[in-house]
Amino acid sequence: MLPFLALFAACRPPLDEPVALPVGLPTTAPGVILLAMVDGEGAVTVGGTVQAELWVDLDGPEDERYAFRYLVLDEAGEAIYARSTLGPLIVQEFLAYYSEDAGFDLLGALPQLGQFPVLVPVLDGAASVRFEARGDDGVYKEVGRYDLGDVEADDQGLSDVVSGAETLHDAGDSRNRLDIVLMGDGYTADEQALWRSDAELLAQRILGTEPLASFADRINIHRVDAVSAESGVSYDCTDTCGMRDTAYGSVFAIEVANALLGTDYRSSAIFQLDQWGVARAAATFPWDMVVIVANTTHTGGFAVHYATVPKGSSDWTSTGVHELGHTLGLLGDEYESDACIRSDALGLPENVTDAPSAPPWAAWIDAETPLPTPDDGGWEEKVGAFEGAWNCPSLYRPAHSCKMRGSSYDAFCPVCAELLARRLFRYSDPAAAVTVGAGAYVLEDLFPGARTEWWVDGVLAAEDVETFTPDAVPAGSSGEVEVRVSATTPFVRVDGGDLSETWRFDVR
Ligand SMILES: [Zn+2]
Repeated sequence: MLPFLALFAACRPPLDEPVALPVGLPTTAPGVILLAMVDGEGAVTVGGTVQAELWVDLDGPEDERYAFRYLVLDEAGEAIYARSTLGPLIVQEFLAYYSEDAGFDLLGALPQLGQFPVLVPVLDGAASVRFEARGDDGVYKEVGRYDLGDVEADDQGLSDVVSGAETLHDAGDSRNRLDIVLMGDGYTADEQALWRSDAELLAQRILGTEPLASFADRINIHRVDAVSAESGVSYDCTDTCGMRDTAYGSVFAIEVANALLGTDYRSSAIFQLDQWGVARAAATFPWDMVVIVANTTHTGGFAVHYATVPKGSSDWTSTGVHELGHTLGLLGDEYESDACIRSDALGLPENVTDAPSAPPWAAWIDAETPLPTPDDGGWEEKVGAFEGAWNCPSLYRPAHSCKMRGSSYDAFCPVCAELLARRLFRYSDPAAAVTVGAGAYVLEDLFPGARTEWWVDGVLAAEDVETFTPDAVPAGSSGEVEVRVSATTPFVRVDGGDLSETWRFDVR
């Protein structure tokens, strides 16, 4: 048999017109937004969809940071794809805390607080989507299902509150870029020029803050305009404490409780009653992140499905970047001025630990730095484990100062910067694709300075080249060409696979 096989292999044509058969899923797929909603029992239903030009980055290592995930199933109910994604658990925990404390069911009174968007990929053979939430026991349980055959009929389309749109920073094709959409709420027709200049200020602040500044050529920033009937936002308690008619229904939710119950909770939390409306407006662009600017003098800031920043402080653009740190980096607050809200299901953000002697960011800690790390004595410039984070006692943060500790700090600490850089590569891969033609393999949209390795039959054939032209298929070849691409950046010491990408081709 052996001579025959060897002969057969030797007879293969050279690689002048190789046929590329990517293994597995593409790196990016078109997406559709499911407008989902969680009720008081934790059940998730879908009340509509948004079909637009949207993209889902399919690759990258899976993780369980969000405690909520969707599975795309085929007709037989087998999972084609699964991804953990922003979901309702943080909102549920947040509302449950205040509801219990105040003896008032916030989600029951305002069910639209349970609204959230889920962007799912449109994949061949997909029939339905199953939602799962993690319990305190760490086990995921089904909380809802959606039949993808209903996407067309359920389409709510783009929002009709959108009055204009412009790309403020264009770094390239959205399929391989982090797309941030800036939206204004509480800006009247007379305040649209103010909105445009506010959006420009925020865009410049985002692009001027590391590590985002160093990745500006992987970030698009867009502005979506909407006219609000009234200036300000609901319950900003400036001239009056009440509802205002604005484009997306931004509200200082805790001020509602304070007004109703006579309580005096700190009221920085602001979000939109029309969560679905935000998603429908943002879909003017292929969005990944939304930052909403609330045109009010009330201070605060909040981030769950979208980041929201009110203009109450003189340095509100810094707060805007802090809020984006929550949604992009999944970073937790490192201060202690709000309620301590913890649950086993949610776990802790990656920049917060309850194990100060062995923090998850050990790669950034010098051997001589004491753990936990004192807040004085010359350690302030070092990465360590400093007490005080996540509004809870006995939790530790990586640095003395960081933008997640407070908006008055201009910079993210090295650990938060690393987590932001890693997340950015969830939306923008080190290369967009490999194209094959005329005997050559070409990496498209290669990240500057990325390392590349080209393997044929498991043997390294070339390194650090953007274009690879293999020799004729050698005798006995399995026909496998593999390219491994990894971006490197001083912002990342441990990348967990986020910065790497592998493509395989069968050239036979
Ligand atoms: Zn925060």
